[in-house]
Amino acid sequence: MQNVFLDNTAVEIHREIQTGNIRHVVFDFDGTISLIRDGWQNVMVPMMVECLQTETDTTESQEQLEALVVEFVDRLTGKQTIYQMMQLSEEIEKRGGTPKEPLAYKDEYNRRLLPVVEERIAGLAAGTLPADPLRVPMSLEFLQSLREMEIHCYLASGTDVEFVKNEASLLGVADYFDGGIYGALREYKKFSKAMIIQKIITDFQLSRNELLIVGDGYVEIENAKTVGAIAVGVASVEDNMYNMNADKRERLIRAGADIIIFDFREGKQLLDYLFNL
Ligand SMILES: [Mg+2]
Repeated sequence: MQNVFLDNTAVEIHREIQTGNIRHVVFDFDGTISLIRDGWQNVMVPMMVECLQTETDTTESQEQLEALVVEFVDRLTGKQTIYQMMQLSEEIEKRGGTPKEPLAYKDEYNRRLLPVVEERIAGLAAGTLPADPLRVPMSLEFLQSLREMEIHCYLASGTDVEFVKNEASLLGVADYFDGGIYGALREYKKFSKAMIIQKIITDFQLSRNELLIVGDGYVEIENAKTVGAIAVGVASVEDNMYNMNADKRERLIRAGADIIIFDFREGKQLLDYLFNL
């Protein structure tokens, strides 16, 4: 099917879906609702390149290592951060180094990302920084509309759950997630977006078209398609110096997104369509 735009919008419909039945919506956080961690790749990539240079005897150039890191970081985005760190450990081992525990790399990454994120968080907490520019445009209004329609909303993120809860509350969106806020755990096997999605389906005995997944990562879009839920891909713009995710829209479509939006500025039209209003 050729893509079709909803009337007078940039909302792309890629697949015929059965609309009018949605009762539960699962949202991704970073890049879908929050921009607080925007630019995280600018921290993760150099850290990993540095680890590969200092913890192995590799003769690969800076550029080669950077290309390697960019590829796997990009590929694993959307899963919990620990998976990117597990890959780093593996790459260090492949090059004859003795890697630390992946969790140690993750802690180091969080430590380096903190100043960037902290500045935004501190500004938000102090009220010197407005929340609006740190939210994906009109995401708050989209959540408000869902609340008015008594649709249950959930947040599921690959970022550590304590960060997600704090950042969601600073952005003024936490209260909209009546279904709960979920995120990465130190015992990483106890959480995945797929697990949350499966639990909602089981708890409420949902049929496919009663569940909607909204996210900017292909992980959650694939999760949605695995269970036959409706998937809205958010091709939001990211700030990173490696041109990562430049083909975000195409990747979301490949992952199986039924609908593509760039943010929620046309959220009203999207809701009219999804709920047959
Ligand atoms: Mg995301």
